[in-house]
Formats: sequence, C-alpha cells, structure tokens
Amino acid sequence: PPDVEVLGRSTWTFLHTAAAYFPDKPTPAQRASMISLLRSLPVIYPCGWCAQDFGKDLAQNPPDVSNGKKLSEWLCQRHNQVNKKLGKPLFDCLKVDERWKDGPAD
Ligand code: FAD
Repeated sequence: PPDVEVLGRSTWTFLHTAAAYFPDKPTPAQRASMISLLRSLPVIYPCGWCAQDFGKDLAQNPPDVSNGKKLSEWLCQRHNQVNKKLGKPLFDCLKVDERWKDGPAD
C-alpha cells in the first residue's frame, strides 16, 4: 500500500499550489476542470478511508472555484479539517499565499 504520509504531503502540495495559481478570473473551463479534479479525489485517491472522509467533507462543503483566493481559502479549510481529525495543529489560512505562492516576506 502507498505511504499515506508521503502521498498526503505531495497531494496537498499539488492542490495548494494549483489553488494558489488558480486565476482571479477563471474561465468556465478552468472552473469545471478544478471541480472535476476535486470531485475525483473521493473516487480515486489511493487511501480508502481518506477518500471516504474527504468525500463526506466535500459533500458538506462544496468547492468555491469563483477565483483563486476563494479556492485557496476553501482548500485551507478542508486541509484543516483533516489536520483536526489527525490531531495536527491547524494552519492559519491568512498565511496560505505566503506558504504556497509568495514565500515569506523579507
Ligand atoms: P501535511 O498535512 O501533509 O501538510 C503539508 C504542509 O502543508 C505542511 O507542512 C504545512 O506547511 C502546510 N499546511 C498544513 N495545513 C495546511 C492548511 N490547512 N492549508 C494550507 N497549507 C497547510 N492521512 C490520514 O492519516 N488519514 C486521513 O484520513 C487522511 N486524509 C487525507 C485526505 C486528503 C484529501 C489528503 C490530501 C491527505 C490526507 N491524509 C490523511 C494525509 C494527511 O493530511 C497528511 O498529508 C500526512 O499525515 C502528512 O502530514 P504532514 O504533517 O507532513 O503535513
């Protein structure tokens, strides 16, 4: 079976980075593709219980793909939901761009 920690870190890296660079004014095709990417996770994510719980969370909290900022915020909350479940510290969602886009201010 896959290493759920390595898989998780790489998946979050991909998802947060894609959200950070998602446009301010996404085209309908970009919105639709992002929604189908996210909705695919509960179906194909190769950690069964992760996929199942994520599917429930997604059903209760539909993705906001109206722009990159909203998507990043939404994804941060979804990741925090998993952090909470695993007893990990919650991430400050105001720092999502610093972590995944701009880097720390100097
Ligand atoms: P990760 O949680 O992988 O985070 C990586 C980095 O992201 C952190 O170092 C931090 O810089 C940043 N970060 C942390 N929180 C946030 C946030 N809220 N917003 C933005 N950036 C943040 N594991 C399980 O054991 N059980 C599960 O049910 C489970 N479900 C998962 C569901 C999904 C959809 C995904 C993608 C992963 C899931 N995982 C699950 C894996 C788990 O979330 C972690 O990826 C794994 O435990 C490794 O954790 P980590 O401490 O290295 O940091």
